[in-house]
Amino acid sequence: LPDLKDKVALITGAGSGIGRAAAILLAQQGMNLCLVDLKDDRLEQTKKEIELAGGKAITVDIDISDPNSVEQAFEQAAKTLGRINFVFANAGINGVLAPIENLNSEDWDRTLNVNLKGTFLCVKHAIPHMKEKGGSIVITSSINGSRTFSGFGMTAYSASKAAQIAFAKMAALELAQYKIRVNAICPGSIKTNIGENTQPTPELDKIKIPIKYPEGSQPLEHAPGQPEQVANLVAFLASDASNHITGTELFIDGAESLL
Ligand code: NAD
Repeated sequence: LPDLKDKVALITGAGSGIGRAAAILLAQQGMNLCLVDLKDDRLEQTKKEIELAGGKAITVDIDISDPNSVEQAFEQAAKTLGRINFVFANAGINGVLAPIENLNSEDWDRTLNVNLKGTFLCVKHAIPHMKEKGGSIVITSSINGSRTFSGFGMTAYSASKAAQIAFAKMAALELAQYKIRVNAICPGSIKTNIGENTQPTPELDKIKIPIKYPEGSQPLEHAPGQPEQVANLVAFLASDASNHITGTELFIDGAESLL
């Protein structure tokens, strides 16, 4: 993907899992990166890995649900690295998993704030940096926002992921006039650290119903996917090789969502 060389990307959730894998691949393709995540050693670790491989990256540790922080992250990226060509709005949490009647409204808000408001803020603050010359934005949704609803206790997560897809489609239409493309990707189960941000409750057992296939298994590989497989799709969507693709939801799940 030669057109990525020396271009600039901002990636949220870059300290772990899918965001980290995308950061490493995009750096290998020659992009300069602004790596965004919560304050954590893993964010600096991703930066170190990229620099050791000869790439260029800065880090910004913020909570993506905070409006001022997100705006400042974009300004810092543009000031240090130049015009932003690609945004990967990827950071997200599973949050508290509970039956609806046991789910606190604070826990609902937290999941929606990180996954949905965080995505809105990233797109909003990307626009001034992309308006003049266009760009590409990819939002990490999930098969749980579109075709799969067997993640018990994940009503807040599923609602946030479904809303991300609707938001991506509205944004694609609105921003087409600026040649800004917006797409949502829907991974199936991917081997990452998302379990650390998952808080199951004992009440979950009350709503579990038998499902047809072992959780996390996928017809194509009989196992969860790897973050590097998702990164390949992200790099394609970042590049001009995908310049006629906007407003879509792309599944990357080894057919898990068709079971
Ligand atoms: P991960 O936990 O390995 O990585 C997520 C990163 O986001 C972490 O580094 C975390 O610190 C960061 N993050 C969380 N809250 C944040 C906040 N408020 N501000 C800034 N950064 C924050 O998990 P992952 O699986 O790589 O998740 C990436 C995206 O993929 C998420 O949106 C998730 O919903 C989505 N997804 C994951 C799977 C899966 O099976 N792993 C499947 C479908 C969709």
